[in-house]
Amino acid sequence: MAFSDSSIAPANERVCLLGKSMEELRELISTLGEPSYRASQIYHALYAERVRTVDEISNLPVVLRQRLGAIAHLSLPEVSRRHHSNDGTVRYVLRLGGASRTDAATVETVFMPEEKRQTICISTQAGCAVNCQFCLTATLGLLRNLTAGEILGQVMVALDDNRAALKPQTNVVLMGQGEPLLNYDAVMTALRILLDPKGLAISPKHVTLSTSGIIPGIEKLATEPVRPKLAISLNASNDEQRNAIMPINRKYPLKDLLDACRSYPLRPWEHLTFEYVLLGGFNDHPEDARRVAKLISNLRAKVNLIPWNPGELPYHPPDAARVEAFRKILADKGHLVFVRYSRGQDVMAACGQLALLESPTVRFANL
Ligand code: SF4
Repeated sequence: MAFSDSSIAPANERVCLLGKSMEELRELISTLGEPSYRASQIYHALYAERVRTVDEISNLPVVLRQRLGAIAHLSLPEVSRRHHSNDGTVRYVLRLGGASRTDAATVETVFMPEEKRQTICISTQAGCAVNCQFCLTATLGLLRNLTAGEILGQVMVALDDNRAALKPQTNVVLMGQGEPLLNYDAVMTALRILLDPKGLAISPKHVTLSTSGIIPGIEKLATEPVRPKLAISLNASNDEQRNAIMPINRKYPLKDLLDACRSYPLRPWEHLTFEYVLLGGFNDHPEDARRVAKLISNLRAKVNLIPWNPGELPYHPPDAARVEAFRKILADKGHLVFVRYSRGQDVMAACGQLALLESPTVRFANL
């Protein structure tokens, strides 16, 4: 549909520019009868300059900005709350505007500053349907998928909010709420912009997508010319144990998952990451470590051991001695292994603790 200068779409019909790819911007700008190079100018303003409103797209003539503003808007997620941890981590509760009340949602994003870099942990869905038993997000159920703009917007809000203290390197991890490979198209649209040197320009070496093991998604990701690093949330050393804490394992059991990992085309600089949440007395025995070593043999991989964070779920943190013994067994068998203590535990920002306990939407979902 072509818009004349006098066509002003009602607010809820205007499209959001955030998350639009170059091709989508070209289509949009062609409805205004403008040449396609205008799309490149808008793309640059949105992602390289990170403007906040259509009016700030200063590389467009004023009249074109006005015409664009009549059919489109630029809305970042709105910060509903900030929780500051003693270790510098900031946990954001972000409100996502939907066209209708049923589409409104809140998600969480975590900003973790370090000496030479910052890491931003983003969500890809509001809630999650995968139902891992050690994860508070699972208690929400799936509320809805996020759009590409809502996924990218989390990175932009966290960068803007910490603009004064940013370090040279930004890492992004897709490890917040949701299973990224169950919202594949929106996640990949957002990632292409995030990884585009003309977009947000974050290196693929610094972006990690973590999956519970959705094999068709892993196989599809393997064919992408532009993709992040891949992490697998393993958390168990055999099928019986994994079925008990990750019901998704009944659909995609360990053997098939590890076969998909073996077929995954790693780039020369790349390792697969296996995350293993250590649940005290459940999956932290020496025999578990030996089985994990065998499962990942012949894979170029590293293992992140994540001692369980106390939450409102019936698991226990592992003893420090058990964590060290587990690490040593894997290391002695020649695996790269790290113990990752979660950041921001005092503000419930740590791994597996992201649940929107203060969200009215969640109270709906739990009815
Ligand atoms: S660990 Fe990830 S995939 Fe599993 S329920 Fe939580 S958010 Fe979903």
